[in-house]
Amino acid sequence: MKTTTTIRLATYKLFYETFGDDLQLDTPLSRYTSARVGGPAEMFLAAYDAATLQKAVELAYHQQIPYFILGGGSNILVADEGVRGLVILNRAKSINFRHTGAHVVCTVESGANLSSLARQCIGKGLGGLEWAVNVPGTIGGAVVGNAGAHGGDMAATLRAATVWEPGRGLRIYNNSEMEYAYRSSILKQEHGREISRRVVLSAELVLTPEPVDVLTARADGFTAHRKQTQPGGATVGSMFKNPTNYYAGYLIEAAGLKGFRVGGAHISEKHANFFVNDEEATAENIRALIAEAWNSVRERFEVEMELEVELVGDWEFEQ
Ligand SMILES: Cc1cc2nc3c(=O)[nH]c(=O)nc-3n(C[C@H](O)[C@H](O)[C@H](O)COP(=O)(O)OP(=O)(O)OC[C@H]3O[C@@H](n4cnc5c(N)ncnc54)[C@H](O)[C@@H]3O)c2cc1C
Repeated sequence: MKTTTTIRLATYKLFYETFGDDLQLDTPLSRYTSARVGGPAEMFLAAYDAATLQKAVELAYHQQIPYFILGGGSNILVADEGVRGLVILNRAKSINFRHTGAHVVCTVESGANLSSLARQCIGKGLGGLEWAVNVPGTIGGAVVGNAGAHGGDMAATLRAATVWEPGRGLRIYNNSEMEYAYRSSILKQEHGREISRRVVLSAELVLTPEPVDVLTARADGFTAHRKQTQPGGATVGSMFKNPTNYYAGYLIEAAGLKGFRVGGAHISEKHANFFVNDEEATAENIRALIAEAWNSVRERFEVEMELEVELVGDWEFEQ
């Protein structure tokens, strides 16, 4: 099913004149999301540098078109009906390192791949991002969502983020201004709003020199642990945040839902907070699994879980 068209021809022409063939219509988003589900973006633009990202957001803002920044698509679920307005695929990836005293500051555009950067840092003998060697997605997604693993997170690594505020201009957010908390930041709190979301253009990360073999051993330990505890395949990682005093995976498992299947998707046998698309699932299949987990855990344990993943497009849950 396709989204209802909301873009006027004159608007499309304006975008086409500005961005040329990098602009597409009705682009299926399933190929850009780690869960491999999701309908089309009404308009779709790949931005290969921060200037294009900024220009696209500003134009959408002034034309009052809803826009969505798509990083690695590893923390979102896109509805089968797709997304209205403009989806901007962030592929701005320049990376620069500079020494400042005992540290090295890495300035990286927000479309760079987080795990690739982590591996690059390890190879250069720069510590601080080993936790991210297996975390999919972009720097922008990680900065917004305070991605973290194995005791590390963005909050502990980020010095500052350069953010484009639509209608206002550039602003540098230092670490404390990001208001970091567990998988949250001041920018993540804008989720669900259709227009005027702020956009991370680049980030400054602070790294500390350490021997390459020490960093490699640490990263290898994280990789081995992940292989042992998490399933592969098409997923969004953890579906729910861990509620206070609980693990979401444990609660879903204790509700008897390991292996529970709807259509082409099932709740992993290996880790019940991972929902796997293994047979060409639809977003609706995954929605049904989420509803089952949510309701079963609430009924059995009186715990209200919160989604870690962001729902993009139109979604409805009866609770
Ligand atoms: C197998 C697997 C394992 C995972 N393991 C972990 C883990 O260990 N720890 C963890 O924290 N997460 C984990 N995740 C989730 C995911 O990797 C992170 O949340 C990641 O940081 C999301 O980045 P992304 O670029 O894919 O964001 P997307 O999913 O593309 O976007 C997420 C949100 O961020 C917004 N956004 C993206 N870029 C920008 C930008 N430049 N400016 C403003 N907003 C932006 C989007 O609009 C959207 O609202 C895992 C996911 C998978 C599939």
